[in-house]
Amino acid sequence: MDDASDPDDDIRLVWHPLLGEYLVQSPGRMQRREGMADCPFCADLTSGRVPPGTRAWIRPNDFPALRPPVGECYVLIYSAEHDRTFADLRADEALQVIGLWQDMHAELAPRYACVMSWETSGAEIGQTQPHPHGQTYGVAVVPPLLARELGVSSCVERTGWLSCHSTPATRMRCTSTRADM
Ligand SMILES: [Zn+2]
Repeated sequence: MDDASDPDDDIRLVWHPLLGEYLVQSPGRMQRREGMADCPFCADLTSGRVPPGTRAWIRPNDFPALRPPVGECYVLIYSAEHDRTFADLRADEALQVIGLWQDMHAELAPRYACVMSWETSGAEIGQTQPHPHGQTYGVAVVPPLLARELGVSSCVERTGWLSCHSTPATRMRCTSTRADM
């Protein structure tokens, strides 16, 4: 790779012919600010990037794994307080975060086959910023695992069973609150 090239230029989905699925190639993610003392999310407030008094907000991911038209990546900060986790939020604050998730879905769903929100919690699995936050990606393809989950959801809606292909002895009955073997 040319040293002067922008790593974002190389962001793409790569078809893996043996697995039969797309993989993300995103070399720009290697530039993330791991172990930095300065918090970019607290800096959103001190720099005026978000208005004073903001409790929760969405920002573009500074090191997106995907770029349009393949995808878009956003970060949702739960609280202005650096150490406050989602579990620490009051009910009204949690509802505000859920409202932001819904806003992101409404924004991205018209453009992408898949919109997913999640939290990566803990350095062991890749969290680089300790300020509690979640991620939302819009992706041009539905990842195989989500496709299988959608298939099961459709099955449950149609039949009430967690598997459309199992035998009566092994299939699981799904109710609104629990799954029984
Ligand atoms: Zn912070």
